Amino acid sequence: MAGLYIHIPFCTHACPYCDFSFELLRDGRVGRLLAALEAEAERRGREPPWPDTVVDTVFLGGGTPTCLTDRQLDRVFRMIHDSFRVDPDAEITVEANPETVRTSKLRRLRALGVNRLSIGVQSFSDEILRRLGRRHTADQAVRAIVLAREAGFENVNLDLMFGVPGQAALDWADTLERAVSLDPEHVSVYGLTVEPGTEFDRMEKEGLLGLPDEARHVACYYQALDRLSTAGYRHYEVSNLSKPGFACRHNVSSWNGGDYLGLGPSAHSHVAGRRLANTRGLADYLSAMDARGEAIDMDETLTVDERIHEYILLRLRSVEGMDTGVFRDRFGDDAMGKRDPAIHTLAEEGLLAERGSRICLTRKGLALADSVCAYLM
Ligand code: SF4
Repeated sequence: MAGLYIHIPFCTHACPYCDFSFELLRDGRVGRLLAALEAEAERRGREPPWPDTVVDTVFLGGGTPTCLTDRQLDRVFRMIHDSFRVDPDAEITVEANPETVRTSKLRRLRALGVNRLSIGVQSFSDEILRRLGRRHTADQAVRAIVLAREAGFENVNLDLMFGVPGQAALDWADTLERAVSLDPEHVSVYGLTVEPGTEFDRMEKEGLLGLPDEARHVACYYQALDRLSTAGYRHYEVSNLSKPGFACRHNVSSWNGGDYLGLGPSAHSHVAGRRLANTRGLADYLSAMDARGEAIDMDETLTVDERIHEYILLRLRSVEGMDTGVFRDRFGDDAMGKRDPAIHTLAEEGLLAERGSRICLTRKGLALADSVCAYLM
């Protein structure tokens, strides 16, 4: 079993904080992207291990996949089924932005086998959405969720964002309440980070952004965990909570080291210990596909140290934590022993807890997950 990720890089507008690989929607380029994706899927689908592999999760991410027309979406799914063996019970997720959601499109997605919709809500405050440079309103976000239910989606994720300039505790509390009242199966909560080269980065350097301080940022994160846990959501990864049985199978599999194939600009793959990445920008991806019939610009077999780092990062971000016995079996006593002093220090500082053979991030550690993992590298 393995996952398939397809990157649709088009958006109807540019959000000032975004550093994903995306392009403003232009019709001519969609056709070229789809032709290139078809060629890539056909080629990859013929290479081992894909002819003998059943794909049990498919994820259309972006960008904004729902800005494609119905016909274009039909073409994407035809391509998937022509080139890969998809399990009849596969989890098939499509990312959507509220302003692109229509009843007809949702019905088409359901007919194409899509059974999980991930909606980029971010906030239920129009003022916060405006500050984030989003195109949709809070009402449109609610409507998108209602329409998704009417179209038959029984597995809906909402992406929510905290740490936004000007976001008061009350705004965030209200967003969490409204999210809970809409009863999604899954919620992802992300803190805003200012990425180099973005419009927010420029504003921050000019002192125009007004980000909340670290303490406020962390308080918003805990507020989300507490409110959502009280409402019955299980916290299973640093940024992800779900109702029982609704953890995102695609992400959980990749966090557990499962294989996945990524198609499209900037898409990454992990196949039998190899990491591959496609060229990032759409123009470069299209040129590479035209010239070489493939767009891979990074292909590496991970060293033991890289595999250890990746394992620590992925396992510790999971709320279950890392089983030190499994770590020892995989990487040896020396690799574990080398980390014992750091584990001890982190435990003393209240960032890690030891539970039997497992080490897990504490509540304090969850808010500093990246730093804790880096310390153990
Ligand atoms: S809609 Fe998403 S991918 Fe597109 S620009 Fe905004 S944040 Fe980036």
